[in-house]
Amino acid sequence: MAKIFRSFILLLPLLFAAGVGALAQEAPDWTNPFPPYRIIGNIYYVGSQGLASYLIITPEGNILINSNLEKSVPMIRDSIEKLGFHFSDTKILLISHAHWDHCSGSAAVKELTGARYMVMDADVPEIEAGGKGNFQYGDVLTSRYQPTKVDRVLHDGDEVRLGGTVLVAHLTPGHTKGTTTWTMKVADGGKTYDVVIVGSPNVNAGYKLVNNALYPQIASDYERMFRVLKSLPCDVFLGAHGDYYGMEAKFARMKEGEPNPFIDPDGYKSYIAEREQTFLAELAKQTAAAK
Ligand SMILES: [Zn+2]
Repeated sequence: MAKIFRSFILLLPLLFAAGVGALAQEAPDWTNPFPPYRIIGNIYYVGSQGLASYLIITPEGNILINSNLEKSVPMIRDSIEKLGFHFSDTKILLISHAHWDHCSGSAAVKELTGARYMVMDADVPEIEAGGKGNFQYGDVLTSRYQPTKVDRVLHDGDEVRLGGTVLVAHLTPGHTKGTTTWTMKVADGGKTYDVVIVGSPNVNAGYKLVNNALYPQIASDYERMFRVLKSLPCDVFLGAHGDYYGMEAKFARMKEGEPNPFIDPDGYKSYIAEREQTFLAELAKQTAAAK
């Protein structure tokens, strides 16, 4: 009897991990290939159907944003080569935030290309611990990844410069403590546009916005994030997942030869407004329940 009981106790963490792990599983579209294409100017899409990766081409080498899953890396490499560029020219690796679906491939990208990995300060401890210490998924085995050394720690407002391109790292926390929204200017057809690559404005299932012992300031961080996103000038609206900005539908419209559908300042404004309302409703619900 005692022995059976002991086995059950030993199994508990596994059962718990399996149950919570359901939230951390892959969506099928994360691994579906997607044709690589030029979005605008020197910015290219090299991600899968569901996980966005961006390649920014410069005369001094290229910048990759998001390494995605470990198994995404060969797909990203193929996408880059199909466009006629070289994966080995990747000089800088950036991410949207420290969740496994955007950063698990980073160790492989660094090893294969020698790129310098630059991460927002508050996400660095998790990245270097392979996902341990994340306030929501730190104990979920399926959301772990290879611990990866960060070569440059970024702070809010820092610039990442390469070959005439300047990316600005905006701290937009809440979804993770160091969620980063990237902005840059892009030249295309004789005009200059403001690009915003949204880090994530989403409150995931199970996130505690009230009395969160592991992330006490989570609600005020989300509020800060929405203030920042609303303040950013945006012509070209992009994000960590294509579904933030209707990537697939816009890609289809672009193929039809329409004026560049990724130039979508109104789409950006209405997306941020809708996400903020969703956050505020969830915060109100959790606040009422906590009383
Ligand atoms: Zn995430």
